[in-house]
Amino acid sequence: MDQNKYCNSLTEYSRRESVKVNIGQVPLGADCPIRVQSMTTIDTMDTQGSVDQTIRMVDSGCEYVRITAPSIKEAQNLQEIKNELRAKGIDVPLVADIHFTPNAAELAAKIVEKVRVNPGNYADKKKFEEIDYTDESYEAELLRIKKKFTPLVEICKANGTAMRIGTNHGSLSDRIMSRFGDTPLGMVESALEFLRICDEMDYHEIVLSMKASNTRIMVQAYRLLVHKLEEEGLKPYPLHLGVTEAGDGEDGRIKSAVGIGALLEDGLGDTVRVSLTEEPEYEAPVAQSLIDRYANRSGHQMIAPLDHSPVDPFVYERRKSIEVLNFGDQNVPRVIADFSGEKVVDKKALKPIGHHYLPELDKWKMGDTGADYVYSGTNPIPYMLPNGLREVLDYEIWKALDDQENKYPLLTLEDLSVFDGVVAFVQVDAANLAAVTDLKNRAGLVVMLYTQNIHAMAELRRFIFEMMLQGVELPVVLMHKVMEQDQTEFQLATATDVGGLLIDGLGDGVMLSGQGNKKVENDTAFGILQAARTRMTKTEYISCPSCGRTLFDLQETTAMIRKRTDHLKGVKIGIMGCIVNGPGEMADADYGYVGSGKGKITLYRGQTVVKRAVPSERAVDELIEIIREDDNWVEPETEVIAL
Ligand code: SF4
Repeated sequence: MDQNKYCNSLTEYSRRESVKVNIGQVPLGADCPIRVQSMTTIDTMDTQGSVDQTIRMVDSGCEYVRITAPSIKEAQNLQEIKNELRAKGIDVPLVADIHFTPNAAELAAKIVEKVRVNPGNYADKKKFEEIDYTDESYEAELLRIKKKFTPLVEICKANGTAMRIGTNHGSLSDRIMSRFGDTPLGMVESALEFLRICDEMDYHEIVLSMKASNTRIMVQAYRLLVHKLEEEGLKPYPLHLGVTEAGDGEDGRIKSAVGIGALLEDGLGDTVRVSLTEEPEYEAPVAQSLIDRYANRSGHQMIAPLDHSPVDPFVYERRKSIEVLNFGDQNVPRVIADFSGEKVVDKKALKPIGHHYLPELDKWKMGDTGADYVYSGTNPIPYMLPNGLREVLDYEIWKALDDQENKYPLLTLEDLSVFDGVVAFVQVDAANLAAVTDLKNRAGLVVMLYTQNIHAMAELRRFIFEMMLQGVELPVVLMHKVMEQDQTEFQLATATDVGGLLIDGLGDGVMLSGQGNKKVENDTAFGILQAARTRMTKTEYISCPSCGRTLFDLQETTAMIRKRTDHLKGVKIGIMGCIVNGPGEMADADYGYVGSGKGKITLYRGQTVVKRAVPSERAVDELIEIIREDDNWVEPETEVIAL
């Protein structure tokens, strides 16, 4: 088996053939449509509230509804919720979400159509201990798990209940952490330990997931899972895709699209859950939009086949490139704003791309998401650009300029043969693989790569792979046009196509266009770079979507914390509704704000508790104090920019 293989094809859209799993009346996998699902946020003991919320979710497009069952009493109440729903003619399959409590799982499995177990905490309590296992003691641990897990499998078999073995990057057991570390392999192994038990017991109504808040880790883990299933001769179980704690608003949507979209592009995924810190009925339409992009994907324009990926799909490594201007090599990916379709007249025009002109002072001020370049096409910008912003123009126009300082030509491949300057941008259609030969042994060029193929990510990737195979190390800007005026649809489409490449270390810059609003295009470009973890320009909030365990109003709290901290560039803050799962789920955060009791918050520095049971009225101030102690605090700017 090819050691890099994780999908049917890197160049032709083809959905992975999974086995069919029956979940109530709505089967999953095989040739079923990719399903949409979500999770309630209300207390499971509130029967009426749960029923009402479930109905809203179904109306918004959810095909399965998950409900948390933290203890036996909530598991019991699932029966009440189910009865009410069925009495109203709502037969959506229900899924019980279980952490730590096998007895709740065993009861729920007799009531609902599917149970979700977290292999990181089904049989283990986390003590954050590193244990040195011998092969014998590890084997003894597996036997212990088997004993705890087997009754649930038997109940599921007897009742026709499906199961998701859902690994979370943030809640791996101490056993897995000790042996495999906090890695995609650890995540996969965590699920396989449970899956092998099911397989031995001839129970196959299984769905698998590998969620993480870090999109790179998440994508690598799903790919590795597919690879390992095949390697071990296990069935191709359906995949449930999700990015955990994606946050809210456009950041949450872009982050979800980067992670989930990267996998859907390669034909992986049978059901999608988008986790937003918003009302659950807002999640399904986002998931549906991501899925709908593949409705007519088969039969796309052909892309030259390539069997073996030249990048390791399970490990992040940025493609090796030479430095040209400030592109490539160790530089962060650059953002180019596309102004080619409009004539820039005054200085205000650059405000949407993060360059603010202050007329009183006759000065420019650059925001955190100030574009690095502007492409003006045939319409040169009629004034001196602010420091830090450079201009790219079409070759013919550039040639005629008197002053070419900080201005660079955009060439076609034909222009290359006559161009005798030192540095230029060259636009290349990714369908034209022969162009790689023209780029060989050239220096001083930034490749502006575009595609017209509906299977855009794969075609752009195919071209960059060809560059790698032929040893062409010029930096590449992903120049992607999506003609879509709806802001969210534009963000989801571009985040999928461009984010999927950045996740694999491909791309030294981004130029987005087609939406029309320069601010949306610019913010989306920076948002995608942040979501793919290639350039951090803002505070990152890793907030859980909330559920029946949540101890405070997550949306309100997230908004309040955001208001006080969203000027802290690159700092990652976890905002978690409960102490049971929260600390694990925010594995990646620098600081954590976690509900630990009614009106009480526990504050973390990384994974370490710094202050316990802080009254919620004081918790944000105390959090800021901790950030300050670490010298990571800066005062927000209060200056009002008058324009
Ligand atoms: S971290 Fe949030 S979503 Fe997860 S169990 Fe706790 S409250 Fe629920």
